[in-house]
Amino acid sequence: MENKSLETSVRFLKGVGQAREKFMSKLGIETLRDLVSFFPRAYEDRTQFKKTNSLIIGETVCVRAMAAATPQLSHIRKGLDIVKLRAVDEVGALELTFFNQSFVKDAIKPGETYIFYGKVEGSLTRPAMINPLFDRDDARQEHGSFISAKEGMDAPTNSTKTAVTGRIMPIYPLTAGLSQKIVFTAVRNALDQCGDELPDVLPVSVARKYELCKVRYAYENIHCPDDYKALEIARKRLIFEELFVLIAAMKLLREGRSEKTGRSLTQPNWKEFFGALTFTPTNAQKRAIDEAARDMVSDSVMNRLIQGDVGSGKTLVAAACCFMTCRSGCQAAFMAPTEILARQHYVSLVQLLEPMGIRIGFLTGSLTAKQKRDVYGKLSLGEIDLIIGTHALISESVNFRDLALVITDEQHRFGVNQRSMLTEKGDSPHVLVMSATPIPRTLALIIYGDLDVSVIDELPPGRQTIETYVVGEQHRKRIYDFVRKLVGAGRQVYIICPMVEEREAQQEGSSVVFAKEGGVTPTSTGNNPTSLLKSAREYYEELKKDIFPDLRVALVHGKMPTKEKDAAMSAFTNGAADVLVATTVVEVGVDVSNAALIIIENADRFGLSQLHQLRGRVGRGEFESYCVLFRGAGSENSRERLEIMRTTNDGFKIAEEDLKQRGPGDFFGSRQHGLPDMKIANLASDMFVLQQAQKAADEVLSLDPMLEAVENRPLARQISRVFEINADRLN
Ligand code: ADP
Ligand code: MG
Repeated sequence: MENKSLETSVRFLKGVGQAREKFMSKLGIETLRDLVSFFPRAYEDRTQFKKTNSLIIGETVCVRAMAAATPQLSHIRKGLDIVKLRAVDEVGALELTFFNQSFVKDAIKPGETYIFYGKVEGSLTRPAMINPLFDRDDARQEHGSFISAKEGMDAPTNSTKTAVTGRIMPIYPLTAGLSQKIVFTAVRNALDQCGDELPDVLPVSVARKYELCKVRYAYENIHCPDDYKALEIARKRLIFEELFVLIAAMKLLREGRSEKTGRSLTQPNWKEFFGALTFTPTNAQKRAIDEAARDMVSDSVMNRLIQGDVGSGKTLVAAACCFMTCRSGCQAAFMAPTEILARQHYVSLVQLLEPMGIRIGFLTGSLTAKQKRDVYGKLSLGEIDLIIGTHALISESVNFRDLALVITDEQHRFGVNQRSMLTEKGDSPHVLVMSATPIPRTLALIIYGDLDVSVIDELPPGRQTIETYVVGEQHRKRIYDFVRKLVGAGRQVYIICPMVEEREAQQEGSSVVFAKEGGVTPTSTGNNPTSLLKSAREYYEELKKDIFPDLRVALVHGKMPTKEKDAAMSAFTNGAADVLVATTVVEVGVDVSNAALIIIENADRFGLSQLHQLRGRVGRGEFESYCVLFRGAGSENSRERLEIMRTTNDGFKIAEEDLKQRGPGDFFGSRQHGLPDMKIANLASDMFVLQQAQKAADEVLSLDPMLEAVENRPLARQISRVFEINADRLN
């Protein structure tokens, strides 16, 4: 049975409507299913109750007290209404003040008991709260005693669903236009509406063996936990489920690849290849090429990961493998995650390989229909030996005559299934994946499973270490002077701004229980309404007009039409632009060896690994190079983070620090690993559950490898759903 109401648009939910639907879609929430799977990022403990005579100034607690009189409303001036009220319990009184909430006057009735939740102010003899949240006490009587964990697995869920006091409140990641209350209410309504339809994708045997609660209980308690025990049980179930689906999916994808015999290619005339290079390859590069070549002459399929820090020269290994494949009379496909990078690979491989008679094609989504048709035709006829492109390569219209090698660059940027979609276009082609992102072992095992690894642990000779400076606003002028000086000496400069659409809505709440963040965190700037976050375009205009009117400034960002993007990139590559203002579209791969300075604005908004990738854009040639990190309105924590960047250039060390300091949520933020976004699981700290899920997936798949049994069908459906979603999102 398909779950109809789960697929209903959130628009039809009470209190959402069209305007809020838009805001929600910014958070990736379109359907009720998305909404109930939109998990809190943290929780606020509002379960602490105190009597009025034991309050401590500054603490935030609940007080159960009776309204001692009718609330008094006064208009102070236009735009300022105050409601004042005294509430009492058996031992004392609490003074309450509400600013601009005149509805309180009628909402609170004298003689009735309420629960007030707020920060204690005033003095010990005269405690007060300003703008407390409140519920009528009898409204939450039924909330009653907490259901014990064990019974809880099947027990009905808490009945006082909308109380905002006396409970553990979820805190959601927000975006402008939404508040905690709006999201909470919407989630609550969605749960009421479709909670019974939530599909239980875990086979019964698995749930029983690993003592996992029912799906409904899990969703109820992840959003509206009865208590911390219930929250823990809910979390464990959801994490388990997420990892279980992922692992099972990876195993299925890998199915059938393992026992295949490969194409055995022939060793080419390597002298021809190496003779054409303008530099001497490093030993690490030679070793990696040798390892890959051996794989490809053998009769098993190559599945090799080339791991090497930014600038270590991974592309050369790719080029060598392409050369070997084409010399064996077969075709090779080389896929890059961005158009800019694909174009750059195209240009440099044309330079190297075309003189040797290798025919190279280029395919991205931005070609005209006619150009695409031309490429499709040539590929299927074998008139192109090597095709370089973006994920346009996995389009259905792409057919090869004889595809024997598939390379993906910056593999972590792709969905897992995208690699396999490309390999399916050949008859068990060899596979080479390249990545600069160091990945902890357990994670690598899930993602890459049976891959062999070549590590390029050596940088080309003569590389300058990149001097890194962490600076504040007071240095801005000096930095701009420095830009001018470098450009005067013939160098080029990148200026990177975070892509910011709107200022993130301010997030309430303080007590973080289970933080789970993804991507760039707004930690330090989120609560600073005056922070100077400019869009790349605004900043570009300003630089061009006011700051560097004498320099040639170009702009590139992801939302630009391809033509403009290409024009800006090639202007910078050819030296026709001195300064390139860019978003993180240049994060991976881009290679302009004359660039000697990269300035990163609001650096505290980036992950360390990301900063390291960005920094890798300079220092790629013989010129002394610099990286300047503008600190933004950073906290101590971000200062410390950036300090790491100053002290090391080693990508692996930085990744480790990244994990330590920010927690894996950020490090493994979306797309860092090429897996579907993890909604709740944390691949580093949920290691124990990960192992259990791995075991469970093994057990299930060994009994039912194609997931055909009735009890496994919901799992099979979920797998295809999750992976479809992933593919769509990346397109
Ligand atoms: P990455 O590993 O980051 O993908 P690239 O393959 O883009 O690195 O190489 C970075 C730059 O170094 C390129 O300009 C490339 O031509 C150059 N390069 C690669 N190998 C060597 C080498 N052995 N000696 C000198 N320069 C090299
Ligand atoms: Mg690269």
